[in-house]
Amino acid sequence: MQLLKNKIMEEGKVLPGNVLKVDSFLNHQIDPALMQAIGDEFAEKFGQSGLTKILTLESSGIAPSVMAGLKLGIPVVFARKCKSLTQNSALYSASVYSYTKQESNEISVSQAHISGDDTLLIIDDFLANGQAVLGLLDIAEQSGASVAGVGIVIEKGFQPGGDMLREKGCRVESLAIIESLENSRVTFKEAVNQ
Ligand code: 5GP
Repeated sequence: MQLLKNKIMEEGKVLPGNVLKVDSFLNHQIDPALMQAIGDEFAEKFGQSGLTKILTLESSGIAPSVMAGLKLGIPVVFARKCKSLTQNSALYSASVYSYTKQESNEISVSQAHISGDDTLLIIDDFLANGQAVLGLLDIAEQSGASVAGVGIVIEKGFQPGGDMLREKGCRVESLAIIESLENSRVTFKEAVNQ
């Protein structure tokens, strides 16, 4: 997705540890027009998959997911990283190791919001080692829902998550795939599905 790649080139900053900082449009400040274009792109790619809901992870997965949900006309459920005081219903939970925070979080979704009748699209902001997506797949499996695919805004193609998920048979569509962040320079991989 050229618009996204341009934005990454203009505003992305490479931090030590192969971390790409995109706080000016995705992870802190949010660019609504770009999020809308991203949502449209996911809707275009997965619109024929019989989706009933989008499943994402707070907080940075929410903006692109809401825009995709708006375009597709389906609700968005986000897994919480902290248990809410108002969340007194039964939960599906999974443990996720965070690449950027270097700690494990328990993520959870109320059993009221996904069920075996659902066909889900999983969306997240970044794909690195794949732990966040594995946690969401685990929650989907616990609920009995089927997963039509995984939509990622930025995949770090030099880390193993994308290959691991595709080898498991998951349909993964990433809007920008980064080949390298070496020498603080962003280069993109020209994937067949980009
Ligand atoms: P994974 O679970 O695939 O290892 O990492 C995905 C999660 O880690 C994403 O939800 C994202 O929050 C975070 N993450 C991984 N790599 C980066 C990165 O380079 N930049 C930012 N901003 N977040 C990242």
